[in-house]
Amino acid sequence: MTILTRFAPSPTGRLHVGNIRTALHNWMFARANGGRFVLRIDDTDAERSEERFVDAIRADLDWLGMTPDGEARQSARGALYEARFAELVAKGRVYRAYETAQELDLKRKIQAGRGLPPLYDRAALALTDADHARLAAEGVAPHWRFKLDHDAPIGWDDLIRGSQHFEARTMSDPVVRRADGSWLYMLPSAIDDAEMGVTHVVRGEDHVSNTALQLQMFDALGVTPPRFAHEALLTGAEGKLSKRLGSLGVDHFREVGIEPQAVRALLARIGTSDPVEPIADAAPLIAGFDFARFGRAPARFDEAELAQLNARIVHGLDFATVADRLPAGMGEAEWDAVRPNLSVLAEAADWWRVIEGPVPVDAELDAAYLDQAAAVAGEIDWAGDPWHAMTGRLKEATGRKGKALFLPLRRALTGLDHGPEMTALLPLIGRDRAIARLLAR
Ligand code: GLU
Repeated sequence: MTILTRFAPSPTGRLHVGNIRTALHNWMFARANGGRFVLRIDDTDAERSEERFVDAIRADLDWLGMTPDGEARQSARGALYEARFAELVAKGRVYRAYETAQELDLKRKIQAGRGLPPLYDRAALALTDADHARLAAEGVAPHWRFKLDHDAPIGWDDLIRGSQHFEARTMSDPVVRRADGSWLYMLPSAIDDAEMGVTHVVRGEDHVSNTALQLQMFDALGVTPPRFAHEALLTGAEGKLSKRLGSLGVDHFREVGIEPQAVRALLARIGTSDPVEPIADAAPLIAGFDFARFGRAPARFDEAELAQLNARIVHGLDFATVADRLPAGMGEAEWDAVRPNLSVLAEAADWWRVIEGPVPVDAELDAAYLDQAAAVAGEIDWAGDPWHAMTGRLKEATGRKGKALFLPLRRALTGLDHGPEMTALLPLIGRDRAIARLLAR
């Protein structure tokens, strides 16, 4: 069996971190099993779906390195839905109903008053052919409900949640088609999953009860259902479902300098029994991917944790990976010198400016000491380790040590009192620039 997963966003907005996590898990599971991962654009809602969001979804997946192996669009599959729907009509598994939203609301209020659950009472099933004809003559179009089989047990072995059971009679027959002929999410999704040969549906646990309903749809369509993995939802750092999560997406991550590798490394592991680690390469994350390691408790997404992980990822990125994003002229030696100091890659440009100069002159520094340092800088061997050569000689000559020895030099040479190891930085500043900076007053 070739594994096929799908990520099925509705293009009614940008992907947020929760969607991205679901996409990632679909992608990883497919990759871990030599399978395929497809993007399915759930755009049956023509009014709310927008082309710009379809483009943005593709671009976001690309940025994250999760380019799909194929793409399908529900808006192009109407003929298929019609055909399957006609079969369900013929089998009596969908039926016409006419209640307005207000009527349904009233029914639910009455049920609540009697302490009953808000279940659709199937009143429409009692309508006769004559009733339908009369309503049609009055110009009232029906919507369609899927008729659940109350006697069939519903259950599945969820890859994350384990054994799941539902009673069909505790659920309302879901509306699958509106009076204007448009489709609601539920049925086209089941038809597509069957028709596309999706083997594993990986989605949030907010879809668990949909799965119960869709299992009966698969059955009514005469197809074997896929396996399901419903993941616990994402919460903010404070442990609550936060509004902010809904607005955090690729645009924000890019803006604050987060690398796609950091997003992947974090979202691959939160909510699982595996530790979050700065793993930039997708392969080891994929190799260890296993639904059995996912917990039932909500996964916590913490932006501060992402920022920290990002810094550790940046420290590990090699020159070839980042070369095209570095300032012109910055080479491998410069990158290797500064990367342990970066929180985000863009800061490399700040260090490049320090290397290239000019750097601000600090008039407070001890001029005599710096003159001495400049003289030493003219004498040492720059091919080896000039920083140790220079500070060793100055220590001997002046008796200075620790901060008194190092800090004036760092300040004069970089214009700053913190930063990358001087051992790495000084050879990049080079002899001539170093002497000029030590002598600048
Ligand atoms: N379009 C649905 C959603 O975004 C897809 C759910 C599913 O994965 O089946 O919620």
